[in-house]
Amino acid sequence: MAKGRDAHQAHQAALADLGRNLSRRARSRCELCGDREGLRPVEVDGGPEDPIEDWALLACPRCRSAMEGKLGDASALRFLEEAMWAELRPAQIAAVRILRVVDMPWSIAALEGLYLDPEVEALLN
Ligand SMILES: [Zn+2]
Repeated sequence: MAKGRDAHQAHQAALADLGRNLSRRARSRCELCGDREGLRPVEVDGGPEDPIEDWALLACPRCRSAMEGKLGDASALRFLEEAMWAELRPAQIAAVRILRVVDMPWSIAALEGLYLDPEVEALLN
């Protein structure tokens, strides 16, 4: 068991280490909604075992919860209509994944109007 915990801690430490670079990339704003409060690095599902910048985001508490499927008030997530066009791949992937579970008229309309690079589409599944 101790080994599993050590591995978890090493993983968390590696993610925290990315924080500095992510902050620079994100200019200390949430990479999904632009908020400045409570930012922390978070992994986007589908990446390699060890956290890397290409599969991580700097995100605020609301966006981190949404990435875990805890949507809260979905009408507060309309910034995703813009975030889904992000050139930053992990931001686009996270935004589209959240939109796909929001299931509101505006989110369905947004996804219908979205063009996704086939390469990104493949990563989403
Ligand atoms: Zn956010």
